[in-house]
Amino acid sequence: MNRSPKRPPMTASAGSEGYRLSKNLEYLKPSETVSINQETQRRRAAGEDVIDLSAGEPDFDTPKLVSEAGIRAIQQGKTRYPPNAGILDLRAAVARHLSLLSGGRPVNADHVVVSTGAKQSLFNACMTLFGPGDRVLIPSPAWVSYPQMVRLARAEPVMVAGDIEWSLKVDVDALNAAWDHRVAGLILCSPVNPTGAVYSRAEIKAIAEWTREKNVWLLADEIYRRIHYGSGPAPSVLDLPDEFLTRVVVVYGASKAYAMTGWRIGVAVAPLPIAKTMAALQTHVTSGACHPAQWAAAAAFGDERVEASVAEMVEAFRQRRDLVVGHFREHLSGVEFIEPLGAFYFFFRVDGYCNDELATAAAFCERLMAERGVALVPGDAFGDPRWVRLSYAASEKDLTRALERITQFARKRESVRAGR
Ligand code: PMP
Ligand code: GLU
Repeated sequence: MNRSPKRPPMTASAGSEGYRLSKNLEYLKPSETVSINQETQRRRAAGEDVIDLSAGEPDFDTPKLVSEAGIRAIQQGKTRYPPNAGILDLRAAVARHLSLLSGGRPVNADHVVVSTGAKQSLFNACMTLFGPGDRVLIPSPAWVSYPQMVRLARAEPVMVAGDIEWSLKVDVDALNAAWDHRVAGLILCSPVNPTGAVYSRAEIKAIAEWTREKNVWLLADEIYRRIHYGSGPAPSVLDLPDEFLTRVVVVYGASKAYAMTGWRIGVAVAPLPIAKTMAALQTHVTSGACHPAQWAAAAAFGDERVEASVAEMVEAFRQRRDLVVGHFREHLSGVEFIEPLGAFYFFFRVDGYCNDELATAAAFCERLMAERGVALVPGDAFGDPRWVRLSYAASEKDLTRALERITQFARKRESVRAGR
């Protein structure tokens, strides 16, 4: 008798439409930031009047010199597989650049691994450093992808709530309270997505001291380091002496300060054996990052003339930040927000506008989109449903229109809550 082989049972888990998916994806959720952004683009393409303040993406073009370096690379036939860990010119340019940002501290190009966006650098680091049985501390609210990456490495994310009195940042006491012997790492983002807060040098030092003492990995996501409204780049773990860096991986990249999100270039700086393992991992996943994009990024980090464009973009972000903060102070003065000192995010509290029929920030954002056509990202996505993230990487004209709409919406919510 011809019997078909026994098949595993089909489960109807969410999103799998009856197919049985791997246990690897047990916790997988699509990125909310990416989904909201794509839904907003779809509505705009369909002709809806939607102002998009959801995207964590600069609205500027890549600086011309950088694009030209990419085009030249294509024309010169740099279109074959690149070296797996990155072309030497880029790794050397990154090492020099990071060294300059941190007062000339030595950074060895052999410790630099180039990947397909900072996202892949972070993913490689999580897969390399964490695994089953490990717990990884993540200050919260946090960028959507950290807990997912930790889960994909089969480790357990542990969210550590930031202190409202301290711009939602965490300190050593909070880390101590979350620590146990299974904690293998901490993912620290500064400047912080989604809040725009920035850890000071003293705060970073105290946290790095703590990770050293506890013998846990510090994965420092410094992708927004150049977008800082204090003097110079935001403080970095690379500003600390060598003895702090033995269990540190720093993630950096071209996407944000160089307006290069679509080129997909990110970098990690790690102790040599870790850098080698992260590079080995990507030999099986992506191989080296897009070859011409690496030449473009080498110009971004290596050509001094590009600095003027970065400074101009950061200045524009600063003016937009002032516009948003000024508007909230004048027109929505009761609304609590985090003082934005870096990145291009403004994080404000909306639970004062919620009630039973509009209970969380997600509902607030849905209603705002439906009634006023403004796209924001609810804090639910980052682990706190009382807040909303507004990205001011948008033109002043769009920002001004959006702020007016948000204010009208808030006024209406106030009347609803007051029963008027
Ligand atoms: N880290 C943070 C905090 C981010 O906001 C982003 C934005 N995408 C990334 C990493 C990933 O950057 P990339 O686009 O270079 O992959
Ligand atoms: N990082 C950006 C954001 O937070 C881009 C989207 C993503 O990759 O998450 O909006």
